[in-house]
Amino acid sequence: MSAIQGRVVIISGPSGAGKSTLVQEVLRICPLPLALSISATTRAPRPDEVDGTAYHFLTPEEFERRRKAGHFLEYEEVFGQGLWYGTLEQSITDGLEAGQWVILEIDVAGAMTVIDRIPDAITIFIHPGSMQELENRLRNRKTDSEEAITKRLEVAHHEMANRDKYQHQVINDDVKRAANEVSTILQAAENI
Ligand code: 5GP
Repeated sequence: MSAIQGRVVIISGPSGAGKSTLVQEVLRICPLPLALSISATTRAPRPDEVDGTAYHFLTPEEFERRRKAGHFLEYEEVFGQGLWYGTLEQSITDGLEAGQWVILEIDVAGAMTVIDRIPDAITIFIHPGSMQELENRLRNRKTDSEEAITKRLEVAHHEMANRDKYQHQVINDDVKRAANEVSTILQAAENI
């Protein structure tokens, strides 16, 4: 990864914290040249998810082929159960070389791998308003089984326990307010 001009921005937080909606709002309001890295996953698309936009949806075999070929900057089996998620190196290098600030929306374990490899990454942890709200969001989505929801809540507690590893923490109590806060953090980092 030579001639890197842009910055890497890592956004983590429990599944159901509203990260995706928040990130879309940050992309809309922040004046910096932001781009979102599209991860690869072996989980099935939800009804509203488009391949290549939400994720690159891969079969387990294709994910494994790309992993062995060294295409991933990081990859994790986020919720166990054979569900793999990973950041494709290609998803970030093009943006960085074009001077963009590339946002990675990834779990805590993946974030630690990226920080090792890209130490000047900006790291932001998104809190759900409350754990009850997080559970409500997971249930209202009506796309996950009871077993999947239980697993996501378990992983959420683990993610929350690691929040101090991030440079910044933002509470997503109101999406517009939280997006403004993230945008301010990024603009303040512009000259660092
Ligand atoms: P979901 O299945 O709800 O789309 O995503 C679940 C979680 O997977 C997200 O909360 C996010 O933290 C994590 N995730 C998404 N993409 C990646 C990735 O490329 N790498 C890693 N390590 N985690 C990811």
